[in-house]
Amino acid sequence: MTIKLQTLASGSSGNSILIEVNGTKILLDAGLNYKELTKRLAMCNTIPGQIHTLFTTHRHSDHLNDRCVSLLTTNHRCEWYHCEFSDQNFFPLPEGGWVKSIPADHDVECVSLLISDGTNKIALITDTGTIPCESLPFLTGLSGLVLECNHELELLINGKDPDSLKLRINETHLSNTQAHDLLQIIKWEGLQFVIGHHMSTRNNSSRLVEHSIKSAVGSGVEVVVAEQDSVSKMLVVF
Ligand SMILES: [Zn+2]
Repeated sequence: MTIKLQTLASGSSGNSILIEVNGTKILLDAGLNYKELTKRLAMCNTIPGQIHTLFTTHRHSDHLNDRCVSLLTTNHRCEWYHCEFSDQNFFPLPEGGWVKSIPADHDVECVSLLISDGTNKIALITDTGTIPCESLPFLTGLSGLVLECNHELELLINGKDPDSLKLRINETHLSNTQAHDLLQIIKWEGLQFVIGHHMSTRNNSSRLVEHSIKSAVGSGVEVVVAEQDSVSKMLVVF
């Protein structure tokens, strides 16, 4: 039973995560153009035809590039689930394991995702202004977490964005402090890694994200900050 994970891109210009669950390759979000996605996949020794299923969290273009999704599903017969929170939100994977969506709090319908190999469980939490109370029970016992750390609130408040945009960002994306507070609630001895995700280039920095996460989880947990323009190292849970 294994889960392998690499972020392919992270931030407001495009998001995608490659995960292998018991040998089945899946993508979480496809917010890159097809050529760029293919290039990033190649850096992970993967070709688009190997992607079994694509799960998308919501319909913003930095998570769902229509043309890219169309090519994946028509040229490569990749299955595609645009996840919505409902009673039918549980997706078994062919070699065991599953993907499940849980509620998020964004300005369009959006979900967070749980991924399991049958034994271990990881989560993707992105594009959410808060952690909905009904999601919290699902976030116990995680082996790994990809967690939005969008902005440092002080940098957002004092930045050059128009006030309306500042308000929207604050209401629809998690800050470093919110990520820190969630980690303090859900951390446990089985947590192996946390990836800081969807970091703003204007209102945040890798150093601040890393500090927020590390100050919550301590030294025994691997911390990675996902970047817009590069593929992350591979994290493995087994
Ligand atoms: Zn979004």
